[in-house]
Amino acid sequence: MTDQHCVIIGASHAAASMAATLRQEGWEGSITMVGEEAHPPYHRPPLSKAALIGDKDAASLAIRPRDFYDAQGIVLRLGVRAESIDRQAQRVALSDGSSLAYTRLALMTGALPRRISLPGSDLSGVHYLRDMRDVDAIRAGLKPGSSAVIVGGGYIGLETAASLRSAGMQVTVLEAMSRVLQRVTAPEVSAFFTRVHEEEGVTVVTDTTVSAFHGEGTLTGVTCSDGREFAADLAIVGVGVVPDTSLAEAAGLEINDGIVVDEFARTSDTHIVAAGDCTRHYNPVYDRWLRLESVQNANEQARTAAKTVAGNPVAYHALPWFWSDQYDIKLQIAGLSAGYDEVVVRGDIAQGRSFSLFYLSGGRLVAADAINRPRDFMAAKRAVLDGSRPAPAALADESLELKAVFEG
Ligand SMILES: Cc1cc2nc3c(=O)[nH]c(=O)nc-3n(C[C@H](O)[C@H](O)[C@H](O)COP(=O)(O)OP(=O)(O)OC[C@H]3O[C@@H](n4cnc5c(N)ncnc54)[C@H](O)[C@@H]3O)c2cc1C
Repeated sequence: MTDQHCVIIGASHAAASMAATLRQEGWEGSITMVGEEAHPPYHRPPLSKAALIGDKDAASLAIRPRDFYDAQGIVLRLGVRAESIDRQAQRVALSDGSSLAYTRLALMTGALPRRISLPGSDLSGVHYLRDMRDVDAIRAGLKPGSSAVIVGGGYIGLETAASLRSAGMQVTVLEAMSRVLQRVTAPEVSAFFTRVHEEEGVTVVTDTTVSAFHGEGTLTGVTCSDGREFAADLAIVGVGVVPDTSLAEAAGLEINDGIVVDEFARTSDTHIVAAGDCTRHYNPVYDRWLRLESVQNANEQARTAAKTVAGNPVAYHALPWFWSDQYDIKLQIAGLSAGYDEVVVRGDIAQGRSFSLFYLSGGRLVAADAINRPRDFMAAKRAVLDGSRPAPAALADESLELKAVFEG
């Protein structure tokens, strides 16, 4: 052991990846992971999917077994919040009154649900969904036949709608924009998901904003700005997240809608790295700055951070990818579609539940949404990185092997 000490703040996907990679990369110093939640890092995506309506707890969703941390000499300080960073003294103050000296610090503080402040938004029965505490609170209100309103038709909102519907609830999704998933997909994919949810018995209402929650102490309904009212025993608000930069900001690090990091995950202080949902970084594949909210980014950027800290720096160069599970549908997304000027559909988008949609920009493949088509997803991931320029007609032709189409 050396007198080196890496303190990791946050105990989720990025932190778990950082700690494990530090050891793999030969870091011999101490490692302490500080997490506000009571649990060692657990998989967060299942919280809106199967785990929301099942009986899974944080232990059964654990990213690593508890004894992994002991075996690797990783000290867990859980249920404790890092309150402030003294960069001069290289010390972090914790909420239990103690403090930790560090030689290297890793900020992996993630993101927080965007909150809405409306009449009645603090009523019992109105929830957000980010961690296990939220899941426990939502589960307590689950009753087959009762009504749920989901505020926001993004991935989390739609996944939650699918889960609650599968649990036998009457579900309404309220979306402010003219279509669900507007921020992330083409209109064709939005229409597909609306169709699927309606086939499953969910009511999807677009172009509507919630103006109030009402009830006597407990939620009974939701009112929209156009005057429409929806009965609700449960409301789940899923209107996006904001990066949790409070600690970094108070410490004077550079922030720009996320902690700004370079390709080696270094912040504006060379002793401090950061990774995951809390960061903004430059992505060489798309030649632009990105703030991502994905497990892929949390894991891979944290690996980059760990390599930097361990003295084996390798620049972060990754294709973003994402997934979403709703009913019998596995959506896998390769790349980022922003800036596309053409889409090509392969398969039956109008009636079926298996197709891929490819996004092209100036003839070049930039992204793909694969619905129940894992092979298309894998092929598209490679093709985006290769800079493939597939012929649109060939891309749509299912009699042709996709890999060959990408290779031109
Ligand atoms: C319901 C849900 C479903 C999702 N589904 C998917 C999916 O299907 N696919 C996908 O790729 N991504 C999905 N995501 C997003 C994914 O979970 C996040 O991108 C990922 O968790 C980011 O990991 P992270 O480690 O950066 O941050 P987080 O997971 O946000 O963890 C940050 C941790 O740091 C702790 N923390 C913050 N500040 C402090 C402090 N000062 N002191 C101590 N601890 C602190 C927080 O309490 C939190 O536990 C989903 C997210 C949610 C909420």
